[in-house]
Formats: sequence, C-alpha cells, structure tokens
Amino acid sequence: MVAVTLDRLRKAYDATVAVDGVSLDAPAGGLTFLLGPSGCGKTTILRMIAGFLEPSGGAIRFGARDVTHVPAEQRNCGMVFQSYALWPHLTVAQNVAFGLEVRKAGAEEIRRRVGEALDMVRMGAYAARRPNQLSGGQQQRVALARAIVYRPEVLLLDEPLSNLDAKLRLEMRGEIRRIVDEMKVTAIYVTHDQKESLSLADRMVVLRDGCIEQVGGPRELYERPVNRFVAEFLGETNFLDAEPEGAVPGGRAVRTAAGMLVSAVVPDRPAGTRLVASVRPESLRLAAGGDVPADRPALRGTIAESTYLGEMAQHRVDCGGTMVKVFELNPRQASRRGQAVALTAEPDQVVLLDR
Ligand code: ATP
Repeated sequence: MVAVTLDRLRKAYDATVAVDGVSLDAPAGGLTFLLGPSGCGKTTILRMIAGFLEPSGGAIRFGARDVTHVPAEQRNCGMVFQSYALWPHLTVAQNVAFGLEVRKAGAEEIRRRVGEALDMVRMGAYAARRPNQLSGGQQQRVALARAIVYRPEVLLLDEPLSNLDAKLRLEMRGEIRRIVDEMKVTAIYVTHDQKESLSLADRMVVLRDGCIEQVGGPRELYERPVNRFVAEFLGETNFLDAEPEGAVPGGRAVRTAAGMLVSAVVPDRPAGTRLVASVRPESLRLAAGGDVPADRPALRGTIAESTYLGEMAQHRVDCGGTMVKVFELNPRQASRRGQAVALTAEPDQVVLLDR
C-alpha cells in the first residue's frame, strides 16, 4: 500500500488557475474524498494524479516515488469514471481483460484475473454479456472490475455513482467501501455529494476555487467546520449573527438575533470581531414555550411553517423576525403551526465562526 502525497500541486490554464497550490496526504489503504462545488478543481486534481494532465507546478508522490512526470501507463492507477466508458462491442469479460492485454499478460493469467475481478464486484455470472444488456449499476460494477483487475496501487474514482438512481447509489456505496478494504488499495474519490462522502470517507478534503478549505474526518468536518463555506457545504445549518458574552455552565453565553444560546466552541478573536453561530437544524431541541424556564438561554418564537416528512418534520420558527430551521425527528403532532416554542442546543453544537 502507498500513500499519495500532493505537494503544492498547481494547474493553470492561461488565466484560469484551476488548482492553486494543493498539499495533501491521502493515507495508504484509505478512502480520501475530494469534494466541493462545480469548478473547484476536483477533476483536475484527479487527472493530474492519474497522469492525464501535466501539472503547472508542485509534485505528486506515490509513497516515496515521485510520479509527477511519469507517464500515466507507468503509474499503476485504476480509474473509474462517471460515464462507465465501457467498450460497447466487447463483452463484459473482454472489457475487463483489456487493461491486462495492454500490459501483455498471458492468456491463463488474464482468464484467472478477470474471473477474480468480476467475482469481487459480484458480476461473475455476466461475463459473456455486452454492456447494453446490463443495468447502469451493473455497468458501473464492470467499470470497477476493469479498474481493479491489474491490482493498481491507487484507485481513482470520478463521481462514480452520479448516473445511478438513489437506491443503487446506496447499494454501490457499500460495495465500493468493501472493495477498497478487501483490495487494500489507496482510493481517491471525487464527488459533490456530501452524503456520499460523509458515509464513506476516511478523510475528506473540501475545496473551493482550487484551494483546500479544510481536511478531516467526516465527523470533524460536519461538527467542527472552520468557516461558513464548509459548514454550509456539508449540510443544512442556521447562521445567526452572534455576540459572545460571559461564561456560563457549558461555555459562553451567546446573544443572537433569534435569542440566547450557549456555545462551547468560541474562537479566540479580539473583542468586537463579528461572528456568526452555526447551528444545524437537527441539533435544535424543540419544546413548548412554557416548558423552558424564562431564565434559561433559548431561542424563543412561533412555528411559522411545518412540513411533515414521515420520519421527521421540518419547521421554520419565527424568532422575533429571524427565521430558524428545526428538524424534529419522529414527530408526534400532525401540525404545530402557530405554537409558541423554545429552542435549545447542546453547547458543543453551537459553533461560532467568523462572519
Ligand atoms: P465539476 O464538479 O463541475 O466536475 P470540478 O471541481 O471537477 O467541477 P474542474 O473540472 O477540475 O472542476 O475545473 C476547475 C476549473 O478549471 C474550472 O474553472 C474549469 O472551468 C477550469 N478548466 C478545466 N479544464 C479546463 C481546460 N481544459 N481549459 C481551461 N479551463 C479549464
């Protein structure tokens, strides 16, 4: 297993800087996700790692080996694309065998390895079919088999699930995790789907405009975003203009436009710095207004809008003109519109960020 290291990697197209000095370690045998909005440079980074694009600066290492200027076919990378990119006129087995034939493997070795790769993606029974006789999910399994058949050290996945429907996507998520673990391959996965990355990643890298905003594990990024961009990119949140006040049990009292909260996550900033509290809708607890004593910090308001979704209800609470979004799990009342409510959150779930 090899770690993949990017060292101040850069790619400029004339005036456009697509990747602007990215330094990163993708741990050996782990699943590292690159994510960010369209145009942030994810695919450009992946293509440079694969060797399809020449960097304008910086270095790429596989373990101790500098591969920055090594041709793609000598890098030992497998790649899976969003579009599958299977040959329509070849059978499943022939598609998977292609990479081995290019590498001049013997007939017996090809037969054995193709069988193993198809078994690994659970497509052994489909070896004689052509791609147009397969579902989208099955085609993507074949594309995976083709990428892993020559046992690459590094597996690169470019939005591999975005052409699949929601159910298949869930199923394939589990499959990709299993294959990466079984093969002990170092995988780098590009997506703009935050659920996919939160559920699968060992390490997540959030990019914006060709630069890294934050690197960390899924919980760290979701619960401790370093700025508004990361907080917003990884799920829904309420941003409330916030002013920290004195110490209280659990942290610092925080005055917001919607009422009082307590935060355990207050950045060290000079007095008067403009801050914003990020509070996720599911971390707010909803109580009837009278149930929270008046002297306890809470956001107080009236439910302006409720949407029942089965497993949860989404409410918009009007707190003195500031709207706060709240998710209530397992809702027991059909509609709570017009009710006076108090909202509280655990201090470690009230994250203060620079405004
Ligand atoms: P998406 O999620 O839409 O695939 P991405 O994050 O993968 O986006 P890239 O495809 O890496 O983004 O593109 C990064 C930036 O580089 C964009 O601004 C894009 O317009 C620009 N870019 C990419 N390829 C070229 C090219 N061949 N010539 C000029 N600019 C390019």
